[in-house]
Amino acid sequence: MTNSNQEPKIPQRAMAIVAHPDDIEFVIAGTMAKWAKAGATVSYVLVTSGDAGSHEPGITREALACIREAEQRAAAHKVGVDEVIFLGYRDGEVEPTLTLRRDLVRQIRRFKPDTVLCADPTHFFIGNDYINHPDHRAVGQAALDAVAPVAAMPLSFAELREEGLEPHRVKEVLVFGTANPDTWVDISDTLDLKIEALRQHASQFPDGWDPADMLREWAAEGGRNIGVKYAEAYKRIVLEREEN
Ligand SMILES: [Zn+2]
Repeated sequence: MTNSNQEPKIPQRAMAIVAHPDDIEFVIAGTMAKWAKAGATVSYVLVTSGDAGSHEPGITREALACIREAEQRAAAHKVGVDEVIFLGYRDGEVEPTLTLRRDLVRQIRRFKPDTVLCADPTHFFIGNDYINHPDHRAVGQAALDAVAPVAAMPLSFAELREEGLEPHRVKEVLVFGTANPDTWVDISDTLDLKIEALRQHASQFPDGWDPADMLREWAAEGGRNIGVKYAEAYKRIVLEREEN
């Protein structure tokens, strides 16, 4: 298809901002594993703890949140990511509010990522059989709104200075779950880790279904765009070019 793909340089610090436990593992964990292996410091920020994600009779939101947070930490550990932050919003009810924007600016100013990864908030339909979860769109929008311009603006959320947090400029955003990808990351060496990471979310596969074949199929489809075995797809926004 295209040979113009320039795989983004591996950042020193990357932050993935997502709605639910397992979002990272379904979509971008191959990239996270690759970057962590190369020495990047990676942080996962989860807006909810996936506390509505079950059909099991009698289970409570509190109990489910505990299970899913543990699964998410195990999944992060598989790919070499140690920092997992849960913001504790209610699963299924996330909106791109100013409060959420401030909470994300706080995380960005604290961790100071070079690259932020988040979902495409404009993606309503995936194929002909899936309506994108509203939390995915809400968190994608809040993350983009937090990155630019406000995280870098001293007068925006200036009250965060009282927490010792200074403005921070994110250099690059990789938007995933998009209908219009223009950048692919070769994950041929880390697809197996991605599969292992997704398997940690056992509560989401109560009938014992194994996600390996599906992830392999998606990654192969991505790989065909750049002539590699397996890849993950992004829309890339470069906010600050590296000086050469
Ligand atoms: Zn999700």
